[in-house]
Amino acid sequence: MEKDGFIIVPREGDKCSSQYNGSLEYLSDIDNFIESLGESLWPLNKFIHDNPELAFREHKAHQALTDFVRSQESWQVTPSAYGIETAWVAVCDSGEPGPVVSFNVEMDALPVLGHACGHNLIATASLAGGLATAAIMKQHGLAGKVVLFGTPGEEGYGGGKIRLLERGAYDSEGVDISLISHPGILHNSALVRTTAFTRLGVEYFGKAAHVSKDPWTGINALDALVLSYNAVSALRQQTMPGDVIGIAITNGGEATNVVHAYTACVCMLHTNNASRLEILQDKVSACFRAGAEATGAKIKINITQGYKDHVPNRVLATSYAKYWNTLPDVPDPLPPTCGDQQQFTWVKASTDQGDISYAMPSVNASFAIPPGPQTGQPHSPDFEIASGTKGAFVRALRVGKALAGTAVDVLATPGLLGEIKKQWEQDMDAI
Ligand SMILES: [Zn+2]
Ligand SMILES: [Zn+2]
Repeated sequence: MEKDGFIIVPREGDKCSSQYNGSLEYLSDIDNFIESLGESLWPLNKFIHDNPELAFREHKAHQALTDFVRSQESWQVTPSAYGIETAWVAVCDSGEPGPVVSFNVEMDALPVLGHACGHNLIATASLAGGLATAAIMKQHGLAGKVVLFGTPGEEGYGGGKIRLLERGAYDSEGVDISLISHPGILHNSALVRTTAFTRLGVEYFGKAAHVSKDPWTGINALDALVLSYNAVSALRQQTMPGDVIGIAITNGGEATNVVHAYTACVCMLHTNNASRLEILQDKVSACFRAGAEATGAKIKINITQGYKDHVPNRVLATSYAKYWNTLPDVPDPLPPTCGDQQQFTWVKASTDQGDISYAMPSVNASFAIPPGPQTGQPHSPDFEIASGTKGAFVRALRVGKALAGTAVDVLATPGLLGEIKKQWEQDMDAI
């Protein structure tokens, strides 16, 4: 089913491996805790929204969020963590060995558009969820640890979470699961899949010559680029559903009276998953090399690491949906269920939470906020307005409650973490 550029695809044969049917013992405690935080979280949410900061420059948000966590009991906060100025880590440890649950707190905004991706709401939901989980852990004497990661630079291919992953942030805290959410206007779902992408910067180095005097002495870098472009166009017939190849010529040569010595283009590849991306990248690179081979130009391909697709953990998603659906006033649309009829929600966008989902079980819940007057989706001016409203904030608190419920289930339910990890291994094997 296609709706506003988003496709919801039922996948036969995908079934929950978990028969888990947890209780809702802690729901009212979670609900009460987050409601009691609401009054102090609203100005924080508004402050982040009204002070948009670009990737890796989230200094105000970093300060405000770490100050807020420090104001709570029993949290140890590390600012500017892992050599990244605006990354931070906060840990609440029960002192008893047990599951380690984590929440990623995004903070960055978009150039010109401000918080048009609603990352202020992601910060609010993760913060509320993490603080509530820690409070329940202490109140009920549960074993384990709660970790909040301030993850900068999601926009603009910054890959803040990938940097933290590579620098050992998740390993050194012994993290078992990762939770996050993302606002939009279309879906309420914990079974969100996103696309994988990568960026190729291609340069051709030919040899300049006069176009009428002695063109035979030249090597035409523009010919190399045009032949490659046509090779990619031919390849498009054999690509798979979900494959997207976009090319922009960024340097098409200098003048009409020369054999072009230098040309360049940028190519973006999007696919349904990271393994398909590798295959497509090989095929497209071969097309680019073909242009160089045909003309004798030299080629240089610079690959910028993109994001992997997000693989949602179905056991965690079941837990999330249970809390989301039990809280009063369930908003539309209803989330996909995790059972025989389960559906994934495909979002045609990418996130570095995808890379996290390849490292550990993850939920990246999408949630619908009340839309702005133009019903604009993320990355529109309208969505920037929508993400600053009280209605959106209230929805983020609901997400925080469902994320906290999911995390508390992991801490409180013997054997659940094992089921979650078993599901994750099956998912990784399938890829
Ligand atoms: Zn965005
Ligand atoms: Zn975003």
